[in-house]
Amino acid sequence: MPDPIPQTMGQQFGRRSWAEPWKIKMVEPIRLLPRPERERALAEAGYNTFLLRSEDVYIDLLTDSGTSAMSDRQWAALMLGDEAYAGSRNFYNLEEVVRTYFGYRYFVPTHQGRGAEHLISQIAIRPGQYVPGNMYFTTTRLHQELAGGTFVDVIVDEAHDPTHLHPFKGNVDLDKLEALIRRVGPEQVAYVSLAATVNMAGGQPVSMANVRAVRELCDRHGVRLFLDATRVAENAFFIQEREPGYADKPIAAIVKEFCSYTDAAWMSAKKDGLVNIGGWLALNDWDLFEKARNLVVVYEGLHTYGGLAGRDMEAMAVGLVEALQDDYMAARIGQVRYLGELLTRWDIPIVQPVGGHAIFLDAKRFYPHLPQDRFPAQTLAAELYLDSGVRAMERGIVSAGRDPVTGDHRYPKLELVRLTIPRRVYTQAHMDVTGEAVKAVYENRERARGLRMVYEPQYLRFFQARFEPIAD
Ligand SMILES: *Cc1c(COP(=O)(O)O)cnc(C)c1O
Repeated sequence: MPDPIPQTMGQQFGRRSWAEPWKIKMVEPIRLLPRPERERALAEAGYNTFLLRSEDVYIDLLTDSGTSAMSDRQWAALMLGDEAYAGSRNFYNLEEVVRTYFGYRYFVPTHQGRGAEHLISQIAIRPGQYVPGNMYFTTTRLHQELAGGTFVDVIVDEAHDPTHLHPFKGNVDLDKLEALIRRVGPEQVAYVSLAATVNMAGGQPVSMANVRAVRELCDRHGVRLFLDATRVAENAFFIQEREPGYADKPIAAIVKEFCSYTDAAWMSAKKDGLVNIGGWLALNDWDLFEKARNLVVVYEGLHTYGGLAGRDMEAMAVGLVEALQDDYMAARIGQVRYLGELLTRWDIPIVQPVGGHAIFLDAKRFYPHLPQDRFPAQTLAAELYLDSGVRAMERGIVSAGRDPVTGDHRYPKLELVRLTIPRRVYTQAHMDVTGEAVKAVYENRERARGLRMVYEPQYLRFFQARFEPIAD
C-alpha cells in the first residue's frame, strides 16, 4: 500500500500559497441572470445543462474541454498558420512536439479526441474482441462498441468508492486484467485501453508502478497497451507528488516515461493540451500507423491536417509544451484543490481524494432520499444552476446509458456531478462563489424531488436528453 496522500502541494511549495504563473491581459464579461430568467432558461433546456445557452450561464463548469484560455504565445502562433492543404509547416512542428514530449514514432492529427478514438477503434478491434480498460469513458467506449468490441472494466475496486483515500484510484487491477485475458484468450483482447487520469472515477491518477506492471503483463500475453493521453500531464503531477522516486522529476520527464510503456496513444488536446479544438493519434507500429493514416483521409481530412486549420495545429504545438511546465501544473491543480478544500470544510460529500480537473459532488450522499432512476445527479446539476447560474454536468446514470444487450439503464455505482474547472479561466473568487452555491443547494437538499426523462436520444444520451421535474 502506498504512503498516505500529503495534504500540501508538494515539498517545493511547503504550506505557502501558490499563485498562477501568468497575469490577465484580456477579459470576457459574464453576468448572473435574475432567478426568474434562470428558471425559464432551465425549463427551456429540459433540465439538461448541456442544452443551456452559454449566455445564460454565470460560471461555466460544464467541462474543461476546449474551454482553456490560450496564452499570448498561442494567440501569436495562430498568426503563423500555414493553411496549405498538404504538408503545412504547422503539421511538422506539431509532429515534432508530439515525438519529443510523448515519444511515439508516428503521428496523425485529428479534429478532436473522438476522431482519434474512431480511427484506433476501427483499425485495432475485430468484431467480437474485448477491450479491457480502467473504467469506461463515454466516447471511448462507444467507438470501441461501434467497432464490434466489448469494453470490460478492470479498474481497482477502490475507484468505485467515492470515499476511499487510495492515492492512485485510476490503477488497473492486475488480477482482473489477467483473469479476463485467461478467460477469453489473448487473441480475443484487441488491446488494453488505459486512461490517465481517469475522468469518470473523479480525475484519479494511475501510478508509474501500475503502468509498468500492466506493460509487463501485456508483454507476457502478447497484448497491446494503448493510452488515452487526454489528461496524462495532470496524471504526472500526482506521480510527482505521491510516488516515491519522482518528487524531483519534472512533469515532462514523467509524462515521457509513462508513455514509454505504451504502444500508442490518442489525445483530446482540448483538455491538457490547452487549445479550444484539436486532437491526435500517435503510434509506434508502422502497420497500424499506415492504416490510421489511410482512414483519417476518409473521416477527418488529409493526414497532414486531420480536420484542423494549420493555425490550430500551431496553437496546439505551443499548448502541449506549456501544459508540461511544473509551475503551471501546480497552479492548475492547486485551484481545483482549493475548491475541494472549501467543500470539505463544509462537510459536503465529494469524491476523495480530489483529482486533477474537477470536483465531483457525490449525489448519492447529497440526496440519499432519491432513487437512482430519479436521476439524483441530473437533479443536483439543475438545482445548482437555479441557485447561482453555475453550470455543472451529470456523471451518473444518464451518462452511463443503456446496456446494449438488455436495453436497461446501466446503474453505475458512482452518481456524480462534475464541477469541471477550465484551465487558466477563472479566479479564486469564482471558486469561492461556486463553493457557496454548492453549500446553499446542500442546505436545501431535502426539498429535491428528482426528475423524469421525457426524451432520450439513442447515442450518448446525456448530451441531448430532456427532463421534467417530479412534483409530489
Ligand atoms: C474528452 C475526452 C475524450 C474525447 O475527446 P473529445 O476531444 O471530446 O472528442 C476522450 N477521452 C477522455 C479521457 C476525455 O476526457
